[in-house]
Amino acid sequence: MLIIAEKNLARRYWANLIDYFIIFSVSIGYIYIVGKPDYEGIYRVSGAPALLMPFLWFLYFPVAEAIFHQTLGKAAFNLIIISKDGEYASFGQCFLKRITDPLELAFWGIPAVVAITKTEQRTRLGDIFAGTLTVSSTSICKYCKSELTLTAKEALKQKFKCPECGELNEKYLMANTKTND
Ligand SMILES: [Zn+2]
Repeated sequence: MLIIAEKNLARRYWANLIDYFIIFSVSIGYIYIVGKPDYEGIYRVSGAPALLMPFLWFLYFPVAEAIFHQTLGKAAFNLIIISKDGEYASFGQCFLKRITDPLELAFWGIPAVVAITKTEQRTRLGDIFAGTLTVSSTSICKYCKSELTLTAKEALKQKFKCPECGELNEKYLMANTKTND
């Protein structure tokens, strides 16, 4: 069980890295295109165009996460964001979840590592704050070995009826999808 959780953790780590890489690359590109070099040759964006960067973050994370339930990085690793009640996370939750990002980045991700290693469900600060979990959106039927995409509820409970063979798959549970009910 723990092995699956650790594997998920690695996927979440790489997914985050991809997302930050995309956001930083786009931001740096934007600064060079729109910004003007100051007397030291450092490019700066000021005034209204500077507002586009938080807006980009806003679109890329909470808005995309609320609509698609994942970012590009998470999509690459078949991860989705769900609410602890077994539904897709709402926009408000996705926004709350991201509030702690600057804090985590400011301390080089240390709060994230502490939160993940200290909490039983292996969640980040933002997840605890927003009542969300990041779980795998795919699973393999243990009877016919079909690879399946799960709904939020199925992903949370790790319980699903295989559309290929009709067998009920139940809980070969990831530690981070445990619920309190
Ligand atoms: Zn099956």
